[in-house]
Amino acid sequence: MSEKIRVCPRCGSTQVEIVRSTTMTASNPINYRCKATDCGYLGTVCAELDADDLERFQLAIKQASTQ
Ligand SMILES: [Zn+2]
Repeated sequence: MSEKIRVCPRCGSTQVEIVRSTTMTASNPINYRCKATDCGYLGTVCAELDADDLERFQLAIKQASTQ
């Protein structure tokens, strides 16, 4: 069994924490926050990847950001 790793969809960091909204009554009150200092992503979308996919995902983000 391989555990999924939570990954920031913006920068590829694995420093993603779950933030439960106490103010919104939306059906999906869970937000994800990226703790990477130069990212600051906050949203309802979070990538969940295996270790193998994580490497490819981070590589793709790196390539996209240098274009
Ligand atoms: Zn991030």
